[in-house]
Amino acid sequence: MPTPTSSKTPTKRDRSAYNKQYRAANKERLDAKAKAYRDQNKDARHNYDLVRAYGITAEQYAGLLHRQGGRCAMCGTSAAGCRGKGRLHVDHCHDKGHVRGLLCHACNTGIGLLKHDIALLDRAKAYLKAEPCSLN
Ligand SMILES: [Zn+2]
Repeated sequence: MPTPTSSKTPTKRDRSAYNKQYRAANKERLDAKAKAYRDQNKDARHNYDLVRAYGITAEQYAGLLHRQGGRCAMCGTSAAGCRGKGRLHVDHCHDKGHVRGLLCHACNTGIGLLKHDIALLDRAKAYLKAEPCSLN
């Protein structure tokens, strides 16, 4: 960046180049600062993510988790056993957007891969209950 005594006003390109150089030269310090900020603001970030993605607050999430006894609404595993950030996933209707409940990663992924289609889930259940195929 030009010094304050410079007569030339820095262009957007000048500022961008300076910022890139500054970030590269101070990467460790800036990364540590960003991590500290994330760690100190986890709850606020969680609330922001919930409101943005599902239209519910962290308080509503906590209430739902409490109503589910702190467990996945399908299999009953505890939130602590959930993969990822140690929180249950918010299962929601992709058509209407409403929240159905909180699920562990496996249950949420499972019904997602089966397209939240009840008929397909029924066929999967029937398939699993059927006698194993005999190859002889
Ligand atoms: Zn589950």
